[in-house]
Amino acid sequence: MAIIEISNLKKSYDKIEVLKQISFDVNNNDVVAVIGPSGSGKSTMLRCLVDLEKIDAGSIRVCGEELVKDGIYSQPQKIKQITTKMGMVFQHFNLFPHLTVKENIELAPKLVKKESVANIHERSMKILKKIGLSKFTNVYPAKLSGGQKQRVAIARALMMEPEILLFDEPTSALDPELTGEVLEVMKDLAEEKMTMIVVTHEMGFAKEVANKVIFMDNGVIEESGPPNSLFTNPQSARTKAFLSRNL
Ligand code: ADP
Ligand code: MG
Repeated sequence: MAIIEISNLKKSYDKIEVLKQISFDVNNNDVVAVIGPSGSGKSTMLRCLVDLEKIDAGSIRVCGEELVKDGIYSQPQKIKQITTKMGMVFQHFNLFPHLTVKENIELAPKLVKKESVANIHERSMKILKKIGLSKFTNVYPAKLSGGQKQRVAIARALMMEPEILLFDEPTSALDPELTGEVLEVMKDLAEEKMTMIVVTHEMGFAKEVANKVIFMDNGVIEESGPPNSLFTNPQSARTKAFLSRNL
C-alpha cells in the first residue's frame, strides 16, 4: 500500500523551478534511497514532504490523507496531524546544546504527546539502549562524537513514533570512520520494517539496504528502480554519468 503519494509536484524559488514535475510513491516498509548531484532538489523535496517548504503545484498524500491536493493545502490542524507521522533526520543533527541526551529526545514528546512522564522515560531508555547510547543518557551533546550525535538525532525522531523516517544526508557531515555506526542504526531500522526515505551519497547503503532508488537530476526524477537494475543497468545517460563518478 502506498504510504506516501507524490504527484506532479512543482516548486520554485523566486523564478527558478527547482522541482519540476516530481511524482513517486512510497509503499509501507519501503526503503527509498534518493541519489543525485548537489543542487538537484533532493533536500527541497524532503522539506516539502514535512511542510518545511510549500509547493506551488501538485499533490502530496501521506497515509491516505491529503497534505496538499492540486496545490491547495489542507487546514493547518490537518497538516500538523499529517506531518507528525513523519520524522526527519538532518545532516547537521540540530541537537540542543544546553539539553542532555535524554532531555533532547524527550523534549518533543513532552510538548506534544499526551503521554505520562513515566511512559516517556521508559521509552527513551529503551530507545537509547537500542542505539547503544545508554551510557550517555545525561551527557551534553558537546561531549559526543558526530556519529553519536547523529544516533541521538535518530533516537529523537523515533521518540515521536513516526510512520515514516526521512533522512537528509545523515552521514555527510561525519568523518568517514563515524559513518558506519550511523548506517548500522539505519540498517537495523530497515530490518525492523521502518518505512524510510534516505537522501544519501552512500551508494553501498543504497545498494544493500534500499529496495528502491530514485536518481534526481536538475529538479526531475531522471530514473528510478530497484537497486540491482538501476546500479548495474542504468537506462539514462545522465544516470550512467552520475554513477560513473560516484560508484
Ligand atoms: P540538493 O539537496 O539536491 O543539493 P536542494 O534542494 O538543496 O538540492 O536545492 C535545489 C536548488 O534550490 C538549488 O539550486 C538551490 O540553490 C536552490 N535552493 C534551495 N533552497 C533554497 C532557498 N531557500 N532559496 C532559494 N533557493 C534555494
Ligand atoms: Mg541537500
